[in-house]
Amino acid sequence: MRELLGKHWHHLPAEEVFDYLETDPAAGLDLFAIGHRREQFGANVLAPRPGTSPLVLFAMQFHQPLVYILIAAGVVTAILEEWVDAGVILGVVLVNAVIGFVQESKALRAIESLARGMSSEATVIRAGEARRLPAGELVPGDVVLLQSGDKVPADLRLFRCRSLQADESALTGESVPASKEAGVLPREAPLAEHRNMAYSSTLVTFGTGSGVVVATGDQTEIGRINELIAATPSLETPLTRDISAFSRTLLYVILGLAALTFAVGLLRGRSWIEMFMASVALAVGAIPEGLPAAVTITLAVGMKKMARRNAIIRKLPAVETLGSTTMICSDKTGTLTQNQMTVQQAIAGGTLVSLSGAGYDPEGRVLRDGEPLEPGRHEALWETFRAGVLCQDSRLVRRDEQWQVEGDPTEGALIVAARKAGLDPDGLADAFPRLDAIPFESQHQYMATLHHVAGGGGSHLVYVKGGIEEVLRRCDTALQGDGGVGPLDAEEVHRRVGELARRGLRVLGFARKTLPGSARTLDASDVAGGLTFLGLQAMMDPPRPAAVSAIETCQRAGVRVKMITGDHAWTASAIATEIGLQGAADEQGRLLTLTGQELARLGDRALIEEADRVAVFARVSPEQKLRLVEALQARGNVVAMTGDGVNDAPALRQADLGIAMGITGTEVAKEAADMVLADDNFASIEAAVEEGRGVYDNLVKFITWTLPTNIGEGLVILVAIVAGARLPILPVQILWINMTTAVLLGLMLAFEPKEPGIMLRPPRDPRTPVLTRPLVFRIALVGLLLLAGSFGLFEWEQARGGSLAEARTVAVNVFVVGGIFYLLNCRSLRDSFVRVGLWSNPWIVVGVAIMIALQLAFTYLPAMNAAFSSAPIGPDEWGRIVVAGASISLVIGAEKWIRRRWSSAAATVRSP
Ligand code: ADP
Ligand code: MG
Repeated sequence: MRELLGKHWHHLPAEEVFDYLETDPAAGLDLFAIGHRREQFGANVLAPRPGTSPLVLFAMQFHQPLVYILIAAGVVTAILEEWVDAGVILGVVLVNAVIGFVQESKALRAIESLARGMSSEATVIRAGEARRLPAGELVPGDVVLLQSGDKVPADLRLFRCRSLQADESALTGESVPASKEAGVLPREAPLAEHRNMAYSSTLVTFGTGSGVVVATGDQTEIGRINELIAATPSLETPLTRDISAFSRTLLYVILGLAALTFAVGLLRGRSWIEMFMASVALAVGAIPEGLPAAVTITLAVGMKKMARRNAIIRKLPAVETLGSTTMICSDKTGTLTQNQMTVQQAIAGGTLVSLSGAGYDPEGRVLRDGEPLEPGRHEALWETFRAGVLCQDSRLVRRDEQWQVEGDPTEGALIVAARKAGLDPDGLADAFPRLDAIPFESQHQYMATLHHVAGGGGSHLVYVKGGIEEVLRRCDTALQGDGGVGPLDAEEVHRRVGELARRGLRVLGFARKTLPGSARTLDASDVAGGLTFLGLQAMMDPPRPAAVSAIETCQRAGVRVKMITGDHAWTASAIATEIGLQGAADEQGRLLTLTGQELARLGDRALIEEADRVAVFARVSPEQKLRLVEALQARGNVVAMTGDGVNDAPALRQADLGIAMGITGTEVAKEAADMVLADDNFASIEAAVEEGRGVYDNLVKFITWTLPTNIGEGLVILVAIVAGARLPILPVQILWINMTTAVLLGLMLAFEPKEPGIMLRPPRDPRTPVLTRPLVFRIALVGLLLLAGSFGLFEWEQARGGSLAEARTVAVNVFVVGGIFYLLNCRSLRDSFVRVGLWSNPWIVVGVAIMIALQLAFTYLPAMNAAFSSAPIGPDEWGRIVVAGASISLVIGAEKWIRRRWSSAAATVRSP
């Protein structure tokens, strides 16, 4: 094969493209050619873009107000020839940058690896057979089948299109889907008008098509315009933005205070060097610089925990949203149920039969009144089963002694039923070759196929299967047991469907029609009417046991669950009732439903009311899901919504948390979602909500722990200046405290396990601030206690004749030891630390142990003494420091105890 680049594929007739690429549109490439081309062109993946390079990421660590202040301070101290101090300050700046860099790149890498883990698949024809392959394995010349919902896996020259449309906004920025058509275009047509091409990374939003791969990997259009791909995911979330804004405001306040300190001190006649150092100490101590980074890291840790429980986060803000979710709208089939369909009953020509056997094992029989029945003798039944095998796209296979369905489980169940009735699916497919099909789409709720009939006198046969309403309204006659065609009693059919649906069975209707032999293709208009009704098949899809308990957990946690399904209202209601959904119900305790038809008639106001009340939404089209989300959000709900199809994408985007199915979901749905369920299971949503609450708790714990240190340090400096005393802590010592404790103590809270009652309390209201009033009070209190402890012991030390260096060492140790004790209080914001248990978070133990070791080094190592102006202290000093630290813990323990008493007293008053 020759050069591929620079070819005007859109300008070549399809036949020339096949010749040039030495491929065959019907059979695809043979295995030999594939291996060869794989070597020649490599894998179909984009070379990793140089995102934010590590160097830039490292440099960004210096772009922070605090670092600027520190560098200025370092330079000034150097000018003053205080070499040790200057060295320490600049050294700290460097260490700080390294820590920030390591943490940030770790968070980034975690997010990137999750994004990469979700590679897409493609349907390819190779050596005459269609198969699903990872998109990365495609080579030029491969023949690819496209279907709505797919992500185009490579650049394709299309040679067959059925109403094909693609969303090319990734490439052209144009958000209106482009219609595709096979044909030859003028050479100069611009890229956006290449109707006979489908480009890699664009999304198929409608129809089907076939194309031949003309470019892979970096040779594709998307690969050539690399700037368009954001290589580095964003680490911003609403919370980190709020916190950055808060930090910035605080920064200005503190810089103002520092300037004031400087001025006041000078006016009082103190040396400007001393005042400069004091201002720097104030700024360094009081600015919570590490806060935004710590929040990001905590979120990233949460994201990993969620991934372990099958909830894959695509957008970091989702981690936060999960914690405040108040409502989950879930699909029924496959999410709340197992998607393990078994046909249990069939009705045709007035005859009801049951099918024995379990699962996909085709062993079983057709029974009427408990007696085996030969369906061959009953024309309508026979045709119903035959329609079930001919009108579908799935396969039943036996793998490792297990019968499995490749494709749609609903269709798999129909194949199993047909085999139980004695039909031979492969033989039928040969006898009635398929000429064309209208694929099943959720919003149309039916599928139709056109078949050639060998010896059929030149006429063709159409089979239709689908939701009973859709099938019946196309029929005007019904097939009878003896093969005659009679009148259709739609009332009676609906009554029968109702009986089956009330038992939670999913009912499909079947019909057929004869078309003249000239028909080659099938359109919606061909099956709009004049069909002959054949019969029904009713299948069971048992609930997932895990989903049942997850629903109970959610409802106890104040998260309401709604079912949204395309299935029949009564089927939906029966299953929803069985799995314990809560919502408006009738006298028999059966849940009420709102159908798509009813929904369409409701005005916006009425819908808001009804959507709130009713828990089950049936026969809902994907478009209506969007309205439903909006109606639920109008009541202030934070809505999580699941989806799998192309048309679910708008609702997924509108929802506060869009959730796509990992197994059955289309690429389009996944792209639109904030989170992907690796196992399609509702229980994983509940798990993610739980983790989300845990992450949020840990964030609040971290903030509650970290702020008092800043307040205490700021106050110590301020009070010292105002009182005209020496500085109890030097800038380098403040740097030491902040850097070591934030990493070794504070960050360990990110690994705090979830609190036991986490799913027993209501969701967090997203409008409440991160820090509630009691917490603000607690933070201020601890800040003041740290001030009292450090200042008090600093003065005490001097009063009993200790050196300044010793007194400062004591003051520093009060902050560190106080931080350790207070850390225990912060492990639960409500319960006493005794209840939390010392060993439930081993990281805390490790962090505290290292912290103590470092603090001993700080106090006793001569080198550290020289660098940080510290000095060894004796056991009496340690005793006083521990008493000061422990008192903080005791005071806060008492404060928590009083609040617990008070809130439980309030609860008893409220409850009758
Ligand atoms: P859900 O996934 O919420 O159960 P669907 O949109 O998949 O709902 O299905 C809605 C209805 O469409 C079903 O009740 C069934 O009658 C019909 N249906 C489902 N799958 C198929 C299919 N493969 N072919 C034809 N009809 C189908
Ligand atoms: Mg479905």
